[in-house]
Amino acid sequence: ATPTAVMVATGVGANNGVLIKGGDALETAQMVKYVIFDKTGTLTQGKASVTTAKVFTGMQRGEFLTLVASAEASSEHPLAKAVLAYARHFHFFEDSSDATQNDAKSGWLFDVSDFSALPGRGVQCSIDGRRILVGNRKLMVENGIDISTEVENFVVELEQNAQTGILVSYDDILIGVLGVADPLKREASVVIEGLQKMGVIPVMVTGDNWRTARAVAKEVGIQDVRAEVMPAGKAEIVRSFQKDGSIVAMVGDGINDSPALAAADVGMAIGAGTDVAIEAANFVLMRNNLEDVITAIHLSRKTFSRIR
Ligand code: ADP
Ligand code: MG
Repeated sequence: ATPTAVMVATGVGANNGVLIKGGDALETAQMVKYVIFDKTGTLTQGKASVTTAKVFTGMQRGEFLTLVASAEASSEHPLAKAVLAYARHFHFFEDSSDATQNDAKSGWLFDVSDFSALPGRGVQCSIDGRRILVGNRKLMVENGIDISTEVENFVVELEQNAQTGILVSYDDILIGVLGVADPLKREASVVIEGLQKMGVIPVMVTGDNWRTARAVAKEVGIQDVRAEVMPAGKAEIVRSFQKDGSIVAMVGDGINDSPALAAADVGMAIGAGTDVAIEAANFVLMRNNLEDVITAIHLSRKTFSRIR
């Protein structure tokens, strides 16, 4: 293709909300064999919401939710935001036992010390000198927290329904579980089908657990799933697909995704994603619409006239 054709294609892309950073990526996109999708915020809306909260001890619901929200208050994770929104709503609109509820300006969260975010696991901190852990099974297992059969069964049921279970321990006792749902983007299934028709193989990677990952993948029509991937692992997965010389595209939105976006032959960032992801990518999908993954590949195939 001539430089003019590339310029025209870049303009067409821009008009469709596909920001193309450089002609090389535009040329490579026509040859993509695998498109690896991040789950949360990429295939899903990234608008997680708490569907259920179950306390497994005698603790009051309001106290439980305030504990969890206090622990999650310093986390940037979408799951943390969902938990906070849910607990805040309960505190101000449902918990009439709390005398401070009408004072929206008063701090309602507990004081937290020793906060740390544990990537791929959750968060840890101290409240009232007692350790609180909020996150997945791995977090509990690594810290020697006992998961009863009753709790395990509850979490499994959430996961089978494509939800993520957030486990909570306080003073090293598992006190409750929250279920979080994050719906698929409306266009996700159609885009996966479209890619398959174009001869492109879709793959899903996520830090989330296997059961939830499989349920989401099934819903969207992806056969190849990689779950419980630690942040550094996504780039490794990209490289494993490149081993036989295949051209790999990665689509993601998170800080976690940026090494994988950089490692891919074609990195595509969701426009609403984090700055780090956008910086690492070759294409930015400004409309946050997955159909533009197809738009980008089509544009490349047209420009370099190798329509298959
Ligand atoms: P993803 O690829 O889904 O964005 P992450 O590496 O961000 O994966 O998180 C993986 C898993 O770690 C989440 O599914 C969740 O179980 C747990 N996790 C991470 N951060 C938090 C948090 N702040 N609160 C609760 N759970 C968390
Ligand atoms: Mg994500």
